[in-house]
Amino acid sequence: MVTALAEHAVNEGASLRVIEVTKDFPTPDRAEVLVPALASVSLTVAAGELVSIVGPSGCGKSTLLRLIAGLDFPSSGELRIGSEAITGPSAERGLVFQDPNLFPWLTVRKNIQAGLIARGMWQEKRQEVDEYMRLVGLENFGNTYPHHLSGGMAQRAALARALINHPKVLLLDEPLGALDAFTRMRLQDEVLRLWQARRTTTLLVTHDIDEAIYMSDRIIIMTSHPGRIERVIEVTLARPRQRNSPEFFQLRGEILELLHFAGQTAVR
Ligand code: ADP
Ligand code: MG
Repeated sequence: MVTALAEHAVNEGASLRVIEVTKDFPTPDRAEVLVPALASVSLTVAAGELVSIVGPSGCGKSTLLRLIAGLDFPSSGELRIGSEAITGPSAERGLVFQDPNLFPWLTVRKNIQAGLIARGMWQEKRQEVDEYMRLVGLENFGNTYPHHLSGGMAQRAALARALINHPKVLLLDEPLGALDAFTRMRLQDEVLRLWQARRTTTLLVTHDIDEAIYMSDRIIIMTSHPGRIERVIEVTLARPRQRNSPEFFQLRGEILELLHFAGQTAVR
């Protein structure tokens, strides 16, 4: 199945544009005082590109993803998928968070097909449920409930649930953040394999600089107060990447230094 997918690699991704987006939030105890979470953020992700966002806690990474997901609206600026403005949530933008957010009362199979049922597409696409369970290696766990899954397996189910909608853009908010280092590395390879087979445009928020270098075409470094893009780094290392190559270490050093200095400016 996996090879079949790779052989018939398709191009499902669409381009994403974020144009001078700002987002202000009311202060918790003084609603009339607005705090900028994002200040004039602009970025373009080409169709089929995999881009990571790295930055300190609170710099607006999740806010940016929520705006792209259509779960919230910008205070100013525009967001577009292809030529269409984002006006609300849509199955064409798949979301996976650090918490897999599976329905605890549904089996893996039912969790994965829930979106199809909600959109009235289950009859038409029911055979795809098996295909997606195989794709993420959960073919033997269809009748298992979430509380019996390891963290890695739960995240695979969450990925399958997002991918079965054939999203044009996949939004990953620290999806591997709660996993142990080994599971994490294995899942990085799986996400890459899925991405290479489908070319879904992917935006990955991560705290892990190695993960960003290992996976992305470009890395966006964000800084806080207010959240903005500090720098965009192109990763030109050939794939599959070697985590212990001198080029990898060099890039990691550069990014760490950037984040360190960015942190200093933020505190000042
Ligand atoms: P990150 O994901 O980079 O850690 P967030 O996007 O979650 O950062 O948050 C960015 C800033 O916006 C933080 O200062 C946070 O407190 C604030 N913020 C996020 N969501 C809300 C909200 N719904 N109401 C008020 N403030 C918020
Ligand atoms: Mg976050």
